[in-house]
Amino acid sequence: DRLKESKVYVRALFDYIPLEDKATPCQEAGLPFKRGDILQIVTQDDPTWWQAKRVGDNLLSFCSFFPPISGLAVAGLRRSFRLSRKDRQGSSGEGSDPGDPDYLTYEEVTRYQQRPHERPRLVVLIGSLGARINELKQRVIAENPHRFAVAVPHTTRPKKPHEKEGVEYHFVTKQQFDADALNNKFIEHGEYKENQYGTSIEAIRSVQAKNKMCIVDVQPEALKRLRTAEFKPYVIFVKPRVPESRRRRSAATSPGGGEHGRVTDEDLQEMRQSAIQIDQQYGHLVDRVLIKEDSASACAELRGILERLERESFWVPVSWVR
Ligand code: 5GP
Repeated sequence: DRLKESKVYVRALFDYIPLEDKATPCQEAGLPFKRGDILQIVTQDDPTWWQAKRVGDNLLSFCSFFPPISGLAVAGLRRSFRLSRKDRQGSSGEGSDPGDPDYLTYEEVTRYQQRPHERPRLVVLIGSLGARINELKQRVIAENPHRFAVAVPHTTRPKKPHEKEGVEYHFVTKQQFDADALNNKFIEHGEYKENQYGTSIEAIRSVQAKNKMCIVDVQPEALKRLRTAEFKPYVIFVKPRVPESRRRRSAATSPGGGEHGRVTDEDLQEMRQSAIQIDQQYGHLVDRVLIKEDSASACAELRGILERLERESFWVPVSWVR
């Protein structure tokens, strides 16, 4: 009890298995953790090996060693543990992509709770193949349009008679769209039937200015742009529950289970693969995974998550609140 507990908390961005770490002095008693675990740094007395406990665990294991977060020692330790050749070749880590999951260590985090006068956090949905996040988003917003809203996208396609400027879309010329894209005004954009579509940063801001929670569904590549103190995004990764095989699934078909229509085993394999790929590349940026059984239950679960988001506190990078 002479240990004075520090107020430093980190989120682990990789899985750590002490038994596989040749550099640890304490393999048997080391603290195993998983990506996403929150660890409280207990002592930093030894610059090479800090002591930590996992938040949520009651007991502090006095021999819980794990590589520290800052300083050059980190890179060395981490490299000996995460043994990819690429790691060992790069000498100082310079020139490595900080977004590359292979180089990730820890992120310092703190509890954050949105106060009543503060703007609501941005909610970002990403989804693997078959998740249909746009439909999910529309459904949750339609249930509660006073609290939630989409960011109105820009498009170059002509306005239809029933549509209103600024409601379904911001209708712009091709020149205007291209200029905006060039000036980095979009978080993402793409082409559909020879027309351009895109969602701007400004569109998110204008939803938040009305004190509504803005929900966007984006390709995971857009996460880098959105992870800022301004937006404080809460990232939800929606994965469809993928049945073992098509045949077994149809034998157990339940009401509302027709989500994926006539899918082949290859389709199912592609869905699994897509989820694995997103998880590997972007899992460390995800706050919550939502396994989607069917639209109705996923929608109910999302609604529950959004309600808690306004009431409870969550771990966010310290840089967002400093
Ligand atoms: P519509 O022209 O029928 O309103 O939309 C057609 C399609 O445009 C949508 O199904 C969707 O694929 C695409 N789209 C709509 N908004 C956006 C957007 O903000 N970004 C991208 N990349 N595509 C969009």
